[in-house]
Amino acid sequence: MPYASVFPLVTARALAREFTYEVEEGVERGAIVSMPFGRRRARGIVVSLGEAPPAGVEARPIDSVVGSVPPALVDLALWLAEYYGSTPGRALALVAPETPKRRKQQAPPAERQSFRGEDEPAELTPEQQAAIARIAAGGGPYLLYGATGSGKTEVYLQACAEVLERGLGAIVLVPEISLTPQTVGRVHARFGDRVAILHSGLTDAERRDERERIASGEARIVVGARSAIFAPLRGLGLIVVDEEHDASYKQDSDPRYDARTVAAKRAALEGAVAVYGSATPRPESWASLERLELGGRLAGDLPRVRVVDLRREAGYPLSAPLLSELRAIEEGGGKAILLLNRRGVAPALHCRACGQTIRCPNCDVALVLHGDHSLRCHHCGHSESVPEACPACLSADLARLGAGTQRLERELEREFPHLELIRLDADTAKTPELLNAALQRFAAADRVVLLGTQIVAKGHHFAGVQLAAVIDADTALALPDFRAEERTFQLLTQLAGRSGRDAPGRVLVQTFQPDARPIAYAARHDVTRFLDEEIERRRELGYPPFRHIVRIVVTGPEPAPVLRALEELRAGISGAELLGPAPLLRLRGRHRAQLVAKTERPRAVAAQAARLLAAAAPAMRRAGLSAVVDVDPQSM
Ligand code: ADP
Ligand code: ZN
Ligand code: ZN
Repeated sequence: MPYASVFPLVTARALAREFTYEVEEGVERGAIVSMPFGRRRARGIVVSLGEAPPAGVEARPIDSVVGSVPPALVDLALWLAEYYGSTPGRALALVAPETPKRRKQQAPPAERQSFRGEDEPAELTPEQQAAIARIAAGGGPYLLYGATGSGKTEVYLQACAEVLERGLGAIVLVPEISLTPQTVGRVHARFGDRVAILHSGLTDAERRDERERIASGEARIVVGARSAIFAPLRGLGLIVVDEEHDASYKQDSDPRYDARTVAAKRAALEGAVAVYGSATPRPESWASLERLELGGRLAGDLPRVRVVDLRREAGYPLSAPLLSELRAIEEGGGKAILLLNRRGVAPALHCRACGQTIRCPNCDVALVLHGDHSLRCHHCGHSESVPEACPACLSADLARLGAGTQRLERELEREFPHLELIRLDADTAKTPELLNAALQRFAAADRVVLLGTQIVAKGHHFAGVQLAAVIDADTALALPDFRAEERTFQLLTQLAGRSGRDAPGRVLVQTFQPDARPIAYAARHDVTRFLDEEIERRRELGYPPFRHIVRIVVTGPEPAPVLRALEELRAGISGAELLGPAPLLRLRGRHRAQLVAKTERPRAVAAQAARLLAAAAPAMRRAGLSAVVDVDPQSM
């Protein structure tokens, strides 16, 4: 009988090691087994095989083999556990997720949730041909850089067709699948039932069916969000990461992996080519990947961007220039997209008498006024009704500060009775179906305005959008994060890309800071200049891509012990430039603080932190403290 080293698929850190079991002849690395584990049963993954158990180990037999994953995924998961400071059990659970029993067959979800596709173009541009040839020749990873509408998706499709011809498969990652029904639709229209789709909106049973179609080789092209990078494809030739700048590729719970980093690793392990595509690449990709450039958009010029200086123009949220653009649509027909990255009626309620803002009792943030006369916390979900008077001084003089999507909708209703309004935000687009229906409605209508949070700036393609407008470009810029400028630039450029697919589109950006770098460069579509300067700034400050960041956050019921725990951690970490500890906003009643390490050796620093935290665990538990180590965090 051979013996197998098996990692149990359990989350407890104390059990994060291999156990030896007896297995039948023929069991391979990557087999998923059911086995006795202590006094219960557990699932596990075979990571290696041997002829004899280690000395002194009494090996029990497994119960049965219940499935398998490609052996390369075992390597990938073990690498991921180490890089992100997670456990092998948790990382292996990503590649071998628990799925329920098979049920009756239903149409694969791709057919129900996606847009119709487009025909293959008669002729590829020379830039597209060059990019496809380079990808087909191997190597990489590549950055496929080109404006919105420059033909990137067509390159992905052609590259997928090429790997299919070679008998291999491809993974196409998209940011959040509910936001990209058109990309899914185009892949599906081109490749039919050779496509499987994976995302969090599927039921467990649907996911199981899709995984089986992938594992059996029936589906050779996988489209999906972040976790699709672990799809059990055998014979992987290509990984595409579409909209590679999108922050949703990073998972914000343990294991805190970044699907873009994992994609590069998986491609390297399996000899596949990784292609990262964007009109607004990350500085990290711009600095380190070989670039394949498609240039400008195929169907005409990029739209002219007009910056509206709110210091001079009254009427926020609807300035005079914006009103006149919308009036033109109300009279002459057409479509507009308006972005306002805040839900609700007003982001804060402020007392004119004593100057206080009404805050969440659990978090250090203002409560947001909603249309149903509630005040809601967008962090913890706390909700209360709007008070008659200021809770601090009892004055009735409460003022609404700023605007959210609901207020914007009301003002538009009043000003433009003949425009159809479609609001898209987390309050209206609760499911992929609702979102899809809203987008379909927008695609079909005329004299219509799509307004909403950043959902409206994602990769939707609509013909005949005359106007795209950013109501308040300063929201994203004000975030205390070294990526605030990058994010603002990406958001504005992406939204500008939504206008004028085939019409002479116009873009309006309302801001109090018209000279801010990301706003000025986005207005000129100057991606290269913005990125080159951003990279210089990052180099001076020692931020990614020049160094990695490891972020350690401790939370607890009182502020002092939180800071003290991080001070102790700071004293024990070497090989990094350390910033902090610095207090963060209180959330859900928990005080928080962070220590930020800039380092060339993120794994070593994360490992040190993990060791120190493990040693401090009993004391931390007594004080009610918890800690998170985040390698390459995407927000600060
Ligand atoms: P991106 O992904 O960069 O936004 P797409 O691949 O969606 O660009 O291309 C934009 C539009 O141009 C689509 O409608 C697509 O069908 C069309 N298109 C792509 N390549 C060509 C081509 N070589 N000739 C004509 N039309 C093309
Ligand atoms: Zn007051
Ligand atoms: Zn709260």
